[in-house]
Amino acid sequence: MGSRSSISVPFRYLFGPGPSNVPPRILAAGGRPIIGHMHSEMFGIMNDIKKGIQYAFQTSNNMTLAMSGSGHTAMECAVFNIVEPGESVLVAINGIWGERVAEIAERMGAKVHTLFKTPGGHFTNAEIEQALAKYKPVLFFLTHGESSAGLVHPMDGVGDICHKYNCLLLVDSVASLGAAPLLMDQQNIDILYTGSQKALNAPPGTAPVSFSERACHKMFNRKTKPVSYLLDMTHLSNYWGNDGKPERIYHHTGPVSGFFALRESLAILAEMGLENSWSHHTEIAEYLWKGLEDLGLKLFIKDKDLRLPSVTTIAIPEGYDWKELLAYIMKHHRIEFTGGLGPSVGMVLRIGLMGYNCNKANAAMVLAALEDALKQCRKSKA
Ligand code: PMP
Repeated sequence: MGSRSSISVPFRYLFGPGPSNVPPRILAAGGRPIIGHMHSEMFGIMNDIKKGIQYAFQTSNNMTLAMSGSGHTAMECAVFNIVEPGESVLVAINGIWGERVAEIAERMGAKVHTLFKTPGGHFTNAEIEQALAKYKPVLFFLTHGESSAGLVHPMDGVGDICHKYNCLLLVDSVASLGAAPLLMDQQNIDILYTGSQKALNAPPGTAPVSFSERACHKMFNRKTKPVSYLLDMTHLSNYWGNDGKPERIYHHTGPVSGFFALRESLAILAEMGLENSWSHHTEIAEYLWKGLEDLGLKLFIKDKDLRLPSVTTIAIPEGYDWKELLAYIMKHHRIEFTGGLGPSVGMVLRIGLMGYNCNKANAAMVLAALEDALKQCRKSKA
């Protein structure tokens, strides 16, 4: 062992909130020989990715591309390009992702206002409208799939309210894309991003994003340059062939293997069909939820319609040490679940069955592992 020998990686069932296991077809795509990031064949693959994202997001936006980086890269790209220092931003915080976006916006000098709920809470359209009227933000951020709480946020009408107040709507779908219905154009979402490593089942490290015409109008008519050169959409739109210019000019070297894998994962989603993918995730999640309740466990999100089908949160069973449960399950079942994240730490255990991992056999394995852990782990408190 050690750095002088070949790499050794254990097998793990990745049944936490991500990354999830990568199917052989996507692994094989990522293992294809590298070509240059500016070769015409690569541009063809990037065009396939663009079409795949347009389908997955249900958008016809021209300004659709994948970031070279994880979900956070897309998050920063959206905020850095849309918002200028001193402008007002409204962020809905009901878990860690709103907290992150508020911090990102604060760092680049925006005037940040927040709407707040404890994990598991969601916002009514009336609450959102009131805050938009009060703070007059240029951008409103909402997490569609709050993976730290296991909540899928209702989207109906939110885009219309934002537009009524001349505000752009930015939505995080890293944990929900492909698992819960989301229609970018129909729901009037201006900027939507996701990650590669959840229901898309590609390796971590690329992040699809799309901008509406309204969003493009704002970000390409700024007075100041975005703080990040790497994430500047004037350059990225050229790299992705979205700016209508005849020539693509070198900006940065994209993750070629990551793009191969992302391209294949989007093809698999298109082959399955979005509606099928949504209903499949719901069906398996419902099977899992019933099994968890049969074990005597309590689901953290009470309202079934607000549960995120890709990431299920359970209240930490009374008397147990949640870290001990997770360690036992990893050691004896090779399964990764996780605890909470940010404000939900100590509140929940999180189980993710996404894309390729989402099937009845895996859900049964999850239930068997939990049943075993509940029997074997010490009940530390009465
Ligand atoms: N948003 C949500 C809803 C997520 O679940 C995650 C990843 N857990 C992120 C954003 C951040 O993505 P990444 O870790 O790829 O930067």
